[in-house]
Amino acid sequence: MSYPRRPNLYLSEEHVDLRTVIAKFVANKILPNVEGWEHDRKIPPQLYEDMAKAGFYSLRASEPGEDLERKYLPTLILCEELGKCNSLGVALTIMISIDYALSLLDIYGSDFLKATFLKPALRGKAIGAIALTEADCGSDLTQINTRATKSGSHYIIRGSKSFTSNAPISDFVTVLARTSNHGALGLSLFVVPTELAGVSIGPALNKLGLHPSATAEIFFDDCEIHDSHLLGQKGRAMQYLIPHFSLERLIVAALAIGACEHLIEMALNYGMSRKVFGAPILGHQIWRHRLANWLAKLEALRGLTYQAAYLLGIKDPSAHQFVAMAKLQSAQVAQEISRDILQLHGAYGQMQESPIERYFRDLAAFSVGAGTSEIMCEIIANSSLERISF
Ligand SMILES: Cc1cc2nc3c(=O)[nH]c(=O)nc-3n(C[C@H](O)[C@H](O)[C@H](O)COP(=O)(O)OP(=O)(O)OC[C@H]3O[C@@H](n4cnc5c(N)ncnc54)[C@H](O)[C@@H]3O)c2cc1C
Repeated sequence: MSYPRRPNLYLSEEHVDLRTVIAKFVANKILPNVEGWEHDRKIPPQLYEDMAKAGFYSLRASEPGEDLERKYLPTLILCEELGKCNSLGVALTIMISIDYALSLLDIYGSDFLKATFLKPALRGKAIGAIALTEADCGSDLTQINTRATKSGSHYIIRGSKSFTSNAPISDFVTVLARTSNHGALGLSLFVVPTELAGVSIGPALNKLGLHPSATAEIFFDDCEIHDSHLLGQKGRAMQYLIPHFSLERLIVAALAIGACEHLIEMALNYGMSRKVFGAPILGHQIWRHRLANWLAKLEALRGLTYQAAYLLGIKDPSAHQFVAMAKLQSAQVAQEISRDILQLHGAYGQMQESPIERYFRDLAAFSVGAGTSEIMCEIIANSSLERISF
C-alpha cells in the first residue's frame, strides 16, 4: 500500500518528473545496499560519483537564476526521497557531502578555494565537513575557544572541534575559529585540508543512531594555514552562518517528511495485514485515529516546510522564523510518528533488522543536530516578540 499522495501546490510538472528520477535512483542504487552500509557504518565513495553524474550536486543551481521562490524545491524533493531509504544515516551523509558542506564555499569561496576544494567535490571526488561545535559549546557558538592567530602570511590554528559529521571521511573541513576577541564579530571561517600537518581526526564516535554518518572530533595542534584559506572576510563568520543554518534546517525538515511518509506506508501495510482479535490492527479505532493524526501532522509539516522554503527563496524577513518552525515541528512530528509506528509493529518493531527500530533511533538526533528544539523555540519566540510592542 503506498502513501496517499496529495498534489503539492508549490511543485510544477518538472518537479514531479525530478521526483520520479530521484526515487528511481534511491530504489536502484541506495535501498538495496543500505543494510551493508549500516553494518559497515559507511557508504562507498563510488556513490558520490554516481550522484554527481546524476546531477544531484547542483540541484539548487538547476532552477532558472531569477526564479528565487523555487530555488530550494529540488533540494527538498531530493531530501524527501532520501528520507525513505531506510537509513537516515545514509541520507544525512549524502546531504552533508553534496550540499551542506559545500554551500558556504560556493557562495563565499575565492577562485582558489573553489578550484582546490569545490571543483573536485562537485565531481564526487572529494568530501567536505563543517566543524563549528566544540566540547564546551554547541548552541552558543560565540563562546568557541579554537583560535586562529595571524603570523605573517599564515594563520596558526589551535583548538579542537566535537561532533563533526563526515570528519573521518573528509578531505577538507570548514572550521569556525576565533580571530579576535570581538565576540561574534571575532569569528572567521577557514577551509582546511584534513591532511595538513597539525590536523588530526579522532575515531568515529558511537552514536545512538545515524550509524553510517561518521561523527568525530578534530584536533588542531599549531596547524599553520595560508591566508588564502580564509573563507570570505575575516570576522564575518556568523553573518555567513545564520542563513546557512536555515539551509541545514530545511534539509532536516525535508528528510523528516520523507521518513514519516515511508513509516506511514510501512504502518499501512503491516496494520492492514496483521490481525488482532479478528480484525486488522488498523481496523481498531485507536489505530485509525492515530493514523488520522499522523496524516494530518505530516501534511501540516509538509505545508510549513515548503512555505519556509518559498520565503527563504524570496529572502523574506520572516523566512528564518518559518524555517525554525519547520525544523521544530519536523523533530516533534517525526519522533511521535516513529514512536507510534514502532508500537504498532509490536515485537517485530523492536528487532534490529527492522527499519522501524532504526528510524526510531535515527530520529532522536533530529531535535539536537542543526540547532536544538529549544533553540528553534528561542528563534521563533524572539522574532515574534520583536514584532509586538508592549
Ligand atoms: C548527529 C549529530 C551530528 C552533528 N554534526 C555536526 C557537525 O557536522 N558540525 C558541527 O559543528 N556540529 C555538529 N553537531 C553538533 C550540534 O550542532 C550540537 O549538538 C547542537 O548545536 C547542540 O549543541 P550541544 O550539543 O553542545 O548542546 P548545548 O548547546 O550544550 O545544549 C544542551 C541543552 O541545553 C539546551 N539549551 C541551550 N541553550 C538554551 C537556551 N538558551 N534556552 C533553553 N535551553 C537551551 C539545548 O537545547 C540542549 O537541550 C552534530 C550533532 C549531532 C547530534
